[in-house]
Amino acid sequence: MPEGDSAWRAAHHLGRALADRTVERFELRVPAHATADLRGERIAGADARGKHVLLRIGRFTVHSHFGMDGSWRLVPPGEQDAAGRVAGAPPPLTGRTAQRGAASSGSQTGPDAADNTSRARRGAARSASQARPGAAGSASRARPSARLQRGPSTGWPAAHRIRAIIGTDAVIALGIDLAVCDLWPTADEHRHLGHLGPDLLTDAPDLDEAARRILAEPDRPITGALLDQRNVAGLGNEYVTEMCFLRGALPSRTVAEAGDIGEWLALGRRLLLANRDRVERTFTGDLHDGAWVFGREGLPCKRCGAIIEAGEHDSGYRGAERRDSSWCPHCQR
Ligand SMILES: [Zn+2]
Repeated sequence: MPEGDSAWRAAHHLGRALADRTVERFELRVPAHATADLRGERIAGADARGKHVLLRIGRFTVHSHFGMDGSWRLVPPGEQDAAGRVAGAPPPLTGRTAQRGAASSGSQTGPDAADNTSRARRGAARSASQARPGAAGSASRARPSARLQRGPSTGWPAAHRIRAIIGTDAVIALGIDLAVCDLWPTADEHRHLGHLGPDLLTDAPDLDEAARRILAEPDRPITGALLDQRNVAGLGNEYVTEMCFLRGALPSRTVAEAGDIGEWLALGRRLLLANRDRVERTFTGDLHDGAWVFGREGLPCKRCGAIIEAGEHDSGYRGAERRDSSWCPHCQR
């Protein structure tokens, strides 16, 4: 699923393809911005903040968040038809589109409450008060062996999956299955994203500040603390699950029990940096089998052979959010 590395890579490719070009086609297929029109404006470039992608056009920013299934895709201008279908499209810029059966509903999902894997996997919200629209039921559970298969997308995106079309004379960017797609005055970016903690993929993230924020809640599970984008930006459930294995800690460990928080953050940054240019995310070094524990419940641990366990635990987010995780009962304590 898309995490900070996916957003970074999407912004990198969008910026490289679109910067300094003039917008010739502009459609945001979301009700709030359906009439927005930035044709004729110059594209300044693109940037990522945590799991958010920012495409700056004129005085405005197209803000997107991938949620569970989103991606940006670049296509040549000649390969679209009237319905917005695109032939022969290259792989999506996330490169991480799992082969899920159902298209995302595309509703907004409150991205910074940490991504919502467990609820989507169960396919039902626990209660109306906890439910966020669109979070439930959209992503079918992939088989564990297929979880990390992120090959190029095949087929055309159906028109209803396209949330944004930003066309230039040279290339068209399609926002597909975006969980969030907004248009902001660029001057307001900070108002929308100022709550984010230090971004692990910036050149010199303030890891001390991230550690300070995490350590402010010592009784919270380390998983929830790392997933909370207000503490540190860029990590999702796949990263945090793998980080727990690499640190030898059960996902239920609290911040106080988790050891040196600076080492957790440095590990997260190392993994994100190592993966941000890769199409296939890996934590093991093996591009075809990249997970130690994520999505491997019931399979033998690659290190010790014990059977990987899985379950949900309290992430500590707002006191109620439950998370799916998996772990080796022997390697993690
Ligand atoms: Zn093990």
